[in-house]
Amino acid sequence: KPSSIGCSVIPIINKLQDIFASFGGELSKIQLPQVAVIGSQSSGKSSVLEALVGRDFLPRGCDICTRRPLVLQLENRPTQSDSDDGREWGEFLHLPGKRFYDFSKIRREIQAETEREAGYNKGVSDKQIRLKISSQNVLPITLVDLPGITKVPVGDQPSDIEAKIRKMIMSYIRQEACIILAVSPANSDLATSDALQMAREADPAGSRTIGVITKLDIMDRGTNACNLLLGKVVPLHLGYIGVVNRSQEDINKNRKIAEALAYEEQFFRDHHTLKIYNGLSDRCGIPQLAKKLNQILEQHIRKVLPRLKAELNSHFFAVVEELCTYGEVGESKVELGVVLLNILTKYCEDFSAMVDGKSREMSTK
Ligand code: GDP
Ligand code: MG
Repeated sequence: KPSSIGCSVIPIINKLQDIFASFGGELSKIQLPQVAVIGSQSSGKSSVLEALVGRDFLPRGCDICTRRPLVLQLENRPTQSDSDDGREWGEFLHLPGKRFYDFSKIRREIQAETEREAGYNKGVSDKQIRLKISSQNVLPITLVDLPGITKVPVGDQPSDIEAKIRKMIMSYIRQEACIILAVSPANSDLATSDALQMAREADPAGSRTIGVITKLDIMDRGTNACNLLLGKVVPLHLGYIGVVNRSQEDINKNRKIAEALAYEEQFFRDHHTLKIYNGLSDRCGIPQLAKKLNQILEQHIRKVLPRLKAELNSHFFAVVEELCTYGEVGESKVELGVVLLNILTKYCEDFSAMVDGKSREMSTK
């Protein structure tokens, strides 16, 4: 299974959700930050998102394909679910109750729904398409695929298309809880990157921007992306990851995502033998991008844990108090709550210790 996001974070989230579920209500949902991809048209944004999710379902291509924001809610379904056989499925907000098990049909529906709102002739709309994907091996995270920045209006696009799209993108990446994947192709000058320019505007400190360099496979002969990946061209606090996604030919030939990931791995192995990208293996490839995203999410969870704990604590005592006013609180209920709180406290400590241990490990390397 090539599902790349969340290998290490899923068990943590699941455990926390179990604990919260026993209290019910608001607390049963843990909010993780949203991840948005931004960049120029055809820089490879949709390709990167798809590779991260590990499924083929987004419209991609050399023309303008993403014409409405696609908000992709990944929902982590527990393994022993009662009514289903463990398959992944998607459901659109505009088609409630209809489950898509065939991901190529999801892509067709995204295209059809894009046309319903934005027309057939390259029009762009800021009205979202919302798609939920329910799976046993994804993080409960929201990914946003956005239209790319274009300069010259084509088809039905208004004369101020660039300003419109920039405004649309800003409304997502301005939010403090948004992790920005700033996508720039390796075969154009990084200093002119729309993605980096907008990311800097929204996140001047660079504390939530990851640089993604695509198309490492089609750089001019005699050049490579080492300086880009090392941040020597445009420095970026959280650094860059270089990736190789499917070419237009691969798309035309219907090449599968697993093949693409295997190809990418081979690409970096070959370059390694040629002594290119030596010492940069932690900055090369979709799996590394997933890992980096995971680290950021772990840090986020660590940051919100104390607040969750406090909420849980006060929630618990509020319930007890309310029950007391009705004279209904039994010893056993209080005991159960205390036990749960102890589990959670212990869990927070274990988790912090784990993250600390990891960062120590990394810093001593
Ligand atoms: P978006 O407009 O930014 O969402 O870009 P897409 O993901 O739709 O990709 C645009 C075009 O670039 C498609 O034809 C892709 O096949 C191609 N493409 C994307 N990433 C790569 C890459 O890493 N290498 C190559 N050769 N082509 C890529
Ligand atoms: Mg796209």
